[in-house]
Amino acid sequence: MGASEIPLSRPDITALEEEFVLRVLRSGRLSIGPMVEEFEEAVARRVGCRHAIAVNSGTSGLHIMLRSLNIGPGDEIITTPFSFIASSNCILYVNATPVFVDLDPKSLNMDPDKVASAITPRTKAILAVETFGNPAHMDAYRAIAARHEIPLIEDCCEALGTSYRGRQAGSFGRIGVFGFYPNKQITTGEGGMIVTDDARLADLCRSMRNQGRPLGWSAPTSGGAPTGSWLKHERLGYNYRLPDISAALGVAQMKRLDEILRKRQAVAQAYIERLAGNAHLIMPTIDEHTVMSWFVFVVRLATSYSGDERDRIIAGLRRHDIGASDYFPCIHLQPFYREQFGFGPGMFPIAESVSQRTIALPFYNDLSEREIDHVVQTLDVMISRENLKRT
Ligand SMILES: *Cc1c(COP(=O)(O)O)cnc(C)c1O
Repeated sequence: MGASEIPLSRPDITALEEEFVLRVLRSGRLSIGPMVEEFEEAVARRVGCRHAIAVNSGTSGLHIMLRSLNIGPGDEIITTPFSFIASSNCILYVNATPVFVDLDPKSLNMDPDKVASAITPRTKAILAVETFGNPAHMDAYRAIAARHEIPLIEDCCEALGTSYRGRQAGSFGRIGVFGFYPNKQITTGEGGMIVTDDARLADLCRSMRNQGRPLGWSAPTSGGAPTGSWLKHERLGYNYRLPDISAALGVAQMKRLDEILRKRQAVAQAYIERLAGNAHLIMPTIDEHTVMSWFVFVVRLATSYSGDERDRIIAGLRRHDIGASDYFPCIHLQPFYREQFGFGPGMFPIAESVSQRTIALPFYNDLSEREIDHVVQTLDVMISRENLKRT
């Protein structure tokens, strides 16, 4: 792509982030330092939960979230087939079984009725994803989970700052995980955050992210010898710690979160104003009780379009240096899921139909009105070319 490229996403890093990272570099505490705690406190405060545990990716957070709930072989976890692969892979990491259910075609989250009818005696949790930041049906999933005395757990990696009737994403479930890859609302380069009100789950996650060390162990101070518990390992753990340099990025980004969410709302609004009248496109549907934190801006082609036509439209946008993408291909149709579980086309028809017609458009904080106009005009041209081919 050339100088005039409009990428799909772009992190928003300012002098504040640089200053916080420099602070860590100059402090000599590059791991298990105070910046991680400051980042955890900032996220806990924002989400309104008691405990936050920083980890080195959203995916590692999801893994130890499931382990903290003692989910393992023979357990079924109800989840969505229309998501980033990590929300389902974490179920495979603990040798449990993903039970996919089809979507509500408006919100693109799981259809609550289908969630309810997928419950069996082996169901150990409902793992809900706020797809593209949309919290739709979280209250319905909560009610179903409560009725069956199983936990609702959240992959809220795409939803930092989203709320529904005043309740923040990350606080709908017993435990949830945010992600901070560079395309998310805020970034730490790589990183994630587990959030929960449950002290026992929080303790287990803290231990597992740090090699299964007991709680209350103390880190070796620079130059000093490690204390006894440093080399005690009470359970199978991992090195899922978030480096302090990454946490510093997170602290600065959290200070700017309201500004970031306002900018993203303005970009989404600008797209909606320009595209809502387009008969070839379906806009995202957002419930009136939702305050949306936009992760990406995804439109859908009308049902008359095929997957091939969508792919050609995306290829056309890319030829014009516009970063567009096909978020998301269905998880159950990924090669190793087909092989391991015998999934195939036709099993989740709504998810499959939706995923063949989505187009994620360039979306980031500083996308200008002029760039948005250019994206919209180019999209129009690409759609009309496909229509010419059809007639
Ligand atoms: C981003 C994301 C994750 C976590 O991704 P990492 O790259 O591991 O931080 C998990 N689930 C969903 C739905 C995501 O969008």
